[in-house]
Amino acid sequence: MNPAVQTMFVAKQKQEGNRACCDCGERNPKWASVGHGTFICLDCSGTHRSLGVHISFVQSTTLDTWKSQRQVRKMKLASGNAAFNDFLRARGVPEEVIHGRPGTTDPARLRRKYHSHAAELWRERLDALVDGVEWIEPEPVEYADLAPASPDAGRQRSPSDSAKRRGGAPAAAGAPAPAPGQSFLKSLIRGSSGAARSPPQLRAKPKRGSASPARASDGTDLSGVWAIQGAAGE
Ligand SMILES: [Zn+2]
Repeated sequence: MNPAVQTMFVAKQKQEGNRACCDCGERNPKWASVGHGTFICLDCSGTHRSLGVHISFVQSTTLDTWKSQRQVRKMKLASGNAAFNDFLRARGVPEEVIHGRPGTTDPARLRRKYHSHAAELWRERLDALVDGVEWIEPEPVEYADLAPASPDAGRQRSPSDSAKRRGGAPAAAGAPAPAPGQSFLKSLIRGSSGAARSPPQLRAKPKRGSASPARASDGTDLSGVWAIQGAAGE
């Protein structure tokens, strides 16, 4: 093996998070999952191979010849086992999927871990790092479709929030979901006045003006508006 590569691995494997297998905690892992820049044990490396090289390309850190500069750079630039697992954790991958017991490798668990959307994002992020391009995490689609019109809505990503929204609109996973109440408002508009007014106008104004629409001003412009809205509101 190239001495420079060997030196890099020795240094990397001294870091606390890299001293145990990224998947099962077995001490002193000698295999690398290149796509993730992580260190894994021999048993887990076998399962990684079954995931396919597009998910996890596995190389030995002591035996294999590292010919690809890109692969070496991935291992060099990646932040290691602890950072990878933290990244998954922060994106809702369950703890029991992230970590198993030392010396046990569970193919089904590792498939869940490495087929997760969070793991895919990590691989993209590492690719961008190696290419020297900025990586911006995409907004989760489910949040974007369901987000209310508050300025910071797109930033929310807590699991409890996610569960709340899924509970509120179960069919919203893929197709764009209508805002709650929108279809009801549409039926009101079509059923009563037929006017092509936007739902927010109809929803907002009758309450504000309901006290005294006719007396609010001299009335000539407003009366028509109130007539339509009044009909829609009844
Ligand atoms: Zn392991």
